[in-house]
Amino acid sequence: AAVALMALSGCSTRTESGGGDGAAAGFAKDSVIGVALPSKTSENWVLAGGLFEDGLEAAGYKGDVQYAGASTTVKDQQDQISAMVTNGAKVIIIGAADGGQLATQVQSARDAGAIVIAYDRLILNTEAVDYYVAYDNFNVGELQGQALLDGLASRGEAPYNIELFSGSSDDANSAVFFGGAMSVLQPKIDDGTLVVASGQTDIKQTATAGWKAENAQSRMDALLTSTYSDIPLHGVLSPNDTLARAIITSVKAAGKDIPIVTGQDSEVESVKSIMAGEQYSTINKDTRVLVDKAIEMVDVLQKGDTPEVNDEESYDNGKIVVPAYLLPPVIVTKENAAEAYANDPNLAPLTE
Ligand code: BGC
Repeated sequence: AAVALMALSGCSTRTESGGGDGAAAGFAKDSVIGVALPSKTSENWVLAGGLFEDGLEAAGYKGDVQYAGASTTVKDQQDQISAMVTNGAKVIIIGAADGGQLATQVQSARDAGAIVIAYDRLILNTEAVDYYVAYDNFNVGELQGQALLDGLASRGEAPYNIELFSGSSDDANSAVFFGGAMSVLQPKIDDGTLVVASGQTDIKQTATAGWKAENAQSRMDALLTSTYSDIPLHGVLSPNDTLARAIITSVKAAGKDIPIVTGQDSEVESVKSIMAGEQYSTINKDTRVLVDKAIEMVDVLQKGDTPEVNDEESYDNGKIVVPAYLLPPVIVTKENAAEAYANDPNLAPLTE
């Protein structure tokens, strides 16, 4: 808390004046609104692009939606944001490809009078982030940790052998997801209920570079060979659905029983897998709701008002505590899938 307070007092009057000059004055309804998304490492990003295009257009803005490429991701996104600034974007919404490498670009955005909204992933080490809109990432991790425990308990008696996977280290969310999960799992590791048989519990050991399926799959292959030739693997903490399916693929290829595997994102293939009794859980972070929330912030800023936030303490980005609006994630297993996706036309049919 002390660190957070110091960061806050060191921050400019911008936040106090309600998001800065651009916000105070508002802007024309047909302004350019930039949306810079990372590469399509999971379905949520694919969905977000289309939803932003349609939603911004319907609201009367000139939306400029860009994705970073798969290989030159960081450079692509830096260039895209710079181009949005040059084109006079009034608000730039950013799903960071690498949260630690955008400080220069967002500072030029601010200098040009644009408001910067970090979308889903925090942008680090800069004062030039006005707002953060995301699902509550720590809670995502807590729900994953609890789902792993619940799934294991449904299978038999403790102790349970588990392995831990986390996301890409260039995504600020990865450590928050992992921290949330470990807040639930660590006490159970300490009391012997859970055994991380490989001994790999440090986030550096569990990380999955680029959130890439092939990296999770090859780490799981290696763990099965090194540690599970003669003991069972009961559970795996997976930070998202793409990696969960890669982990399951690895286990199947090794001819082992499928352990309890967690996930996140409600990807179509994972919802199918959950209904088929393979993947155990996912998290519903409805992309439609998150995109709507971001566009609602743009509408408020357009009128010259200050967007509502509901968290002003959790997201210290190393320079300031970024005012955040956090949405509640929902845990989904086979048991509540029908209810959880009832009003999602893509997913509801899969749960019948
Ligand atoms: C998002 C997750 C997603 C992951 C990989 C994270 O920042 O919050 O929903 O699974 O990126 O794309």
